[in-house]
Amino acid sequence: MPEGPADLPHQPGLLIILSAPSGAGKTSLYRALLERVDGVVASVSHTTRAPRPGERDGVDYHFVDEAEFERQVAEGAFLEHARVFDRYYGTSRAAVEAERAAGRDVVLEIDWQGARQIRERVADAVSVFVLPPSREALRERLEGRGQDDPEVIERRMRDAEAEISHYAEYDYVIVNDEFEEALGSLVAVVRGERCRLDHRRETLAVFADRLMGKIDEAGG
Ligand code: 5GP
Repeated sequence: MPEGPADLPHQPGLLIILSAPSGAGKTSLYRALLERVDGVVASVSHTTRAPRPGERDGVDYHFVDEAEFERQVAEGAFLEHARVFDRYYGTSRAAVEAERAAGRDVVLEIDWQGARQIRERVADAVSVFVLPPSREALRERLEGRGQDDPEVIERRMRDAEAEISHYAEYDYVIVNDEFEEALGSLVAVVRGERCRLDHRRETLAVFADRLMGKIDEAGG
């Protein structure tokens, strides 16, 4: 919920895009943001990839087959969709719009291709890119996932480089060196964006009219 007096009507919630190469710690930051700031919710994407152990349908992703994904593309159900690592991923337009209309800020954890589409379609979207602190740290994080096949690591490094090459398309860039500090920056971005006049012009107009005595406290 946008900050401000609770009885004021809400502007639409923010649409916040979060992108990063895998190995930058994006998912931990994202989860911590949801816990740390009230009124921020996750968008649950659709994907054609298989669930990983521990992932739940409808919570981590909506897991669908290609036919179902294509049907939803044809219906215009996705605000953006892209092929990432040979699988399809998409963001539900209706779910995002419902959350925003209810005054909640929605975070999309999506890749650079999806971010580009959102920027073209949603003028007030806010985008954040997360970078690892160094190439060594990136490599260590990509190696630290159990499978140490050097070819797999090299492919992940190339994928990460490709994602990183798009950092300059984003509004904010956060280097995730020290986790708490990076989280603080992300929280600051969300809180700062909530204060922007552009995002809450109508709400503030009512609030300021009350402050100036132009309308009474009951809103009349
Ligand atoms: P993973 O399969 O590891 O969960 O995600 C792989 C990549 O797909 C990540 O870079 C993630 O940001 C991206 N991704 C997840 N959901 C979406 C989505 O709905 N749209 C787009 N464009 N990318 C997504």
